Amino acid sequence: MQSVTVLGATGSIGVSTLDVIARHPHNYRVFALSGHSQLELLASQARQFLPDFLVVGDERSADELRAQLADSDFAGEILFGLDGLCQVASDPRVDAVMAAIVGAAGLAPTLAAVEAGKRVLLANKEALVMAGPLFMRAVAASGAVLLPIDSEHNAIFQSLPSHYTAAAYSEPERGRVAAEQGVAKLILTASGGPFRQWQLAEMASVTPAQAVAHPNWSMGAKISVDSATLMNKGLELIEASYLFALPAESIDVVVHPQSVIHSLVQYCDGSVLAQLGNPDMRTPIAHALAWPQRIDSGVAPLDLVALARMDFAAPDLQRFPALSLARQAAAAGGAAPAVLNAANEVAVAAFLAGRIGFLQIAQLVAAVLENCQPREPTSLEAVQRCDHQARRCADQWLVNTANEER
Ligand code: NAD
Ligand code: MG
Repeated sequence: MQSVTVLGATGSIGVSTLDVIARHPHNYRVFALSGHSQLELLASQARQFLPDFLVVGDERSADELRAQLADSDFAGEILFGLDGLCQVASDPRVDAVMAAIVGAAGLAPTLAAVEAGKRVLLANKEALVMAGPLFMRAVAASGAVLLPIDSEHNAIFQSLPSHYTAAAYSEPERGRVAAEQGVAKLILTASGGPFRQWQLAEMASVTPAQAVAHPNWSMGAKISVDSATLMNKGLELIEASYLFALPAESIDVVVHPQSVIHSLVQYCDGSVLAQLGNPDMRTPIAHALAWPQRIDSGVAPLDLVALARMDFAAPDLQRFPALSLARQAAAAGGAAPAVLNAANEVAVAAFLAGRIGFLQIAQLVAAVLENCQPREPTSLEAVQRCDHQARRCADQWLVNTANEER
């Protein structure tokens, strides 16, 4: 029996995680659930799974949730804020932590789980992008078992030799483990998002509703916009380079609109290994929950005959400059990935709020990358300072741009 904390339980990944857990009541029990806004959903999850702890954003939400659960069987504690999140991520009674908070807000609790040596199921890619070297050093020092949930990274994990990641996590020198194991390249697949075939001029007037309507995956708003700009693939490129200790030049991106091949590993002898499946996050979630065993995820078997064909194309960097910006940040290293991530979070929020156009997301990120270059952060606090500095720079860009347009 594994005791599991789900950070970000009310989100898309959180809900899929609880769906898998509910299929295996004898293998998993829910220790804690966290949610930021959808308190009713969190309350209904609490009634179903009866966790020991719930965590919400602030004291008012905690009171509201307590009132909602007053006449229920839930007898646990309700915590709030970052301290509450870090507490349920590192509690000695917890075996596994699903890190599924979106964005920089997930960094501290995810790192708390890593430092406590948990089995960490990492969906929160932003945490790793912001603090990669620090994060991977913490994994090596604590002996945490880091299992990627991002479908591409989970596919690569499954396509690598079984001892690869243990070696890469403990010796994160880029390229050495790969060379020893005959790994020549990682190939990340990208669906291409909803605007894969749109002209640049049409993309200028994309609405938030169009951007969050992903063709293959049902996901939270932020990652859906990232998929539409291809910044998601850029973040994943950086994520992969940390997880698998490879330089970004050894990681290719190929557009594969059917999202059935989730990613591939190319070996020096010409072999290419891939993981395939229907695009449903319950597969990587079940894989990581049960690893090295396998459990049923509820995902329908892949029907190759019905699929009939798979297509591939190179990404168009003219229309999707975010991918080049991420490569640039990966090559620069230091604080650049944290700056890229913070600028992108501000840009996506501004786009979703109707303040900037779709193409301005990458413009904002490019400007912040150029103008904000803090020194390499070597502590969590320093990473957070870089994040704040980049956000201030991004906010200034928004003000300047609004003034120019007036
Ligand atoms: P989502 O928006 O659906 O859910 C986000 C969760 O985080 C919610 O529970 C929300 O309450 C919580 N949250 C938001 N802001 C918070 C804050 N400031 N403090 C504490 N909690 C907060 O997002 P999602 O699609 O489930 O994605 C979660 C993470 O997983 C992201 O990092 C995303 O990149 C990654 N991911 C998601 C998918 C997917 O299919 N959805 C696939 C791969 C990776
Ligand atoms: Mg992904």
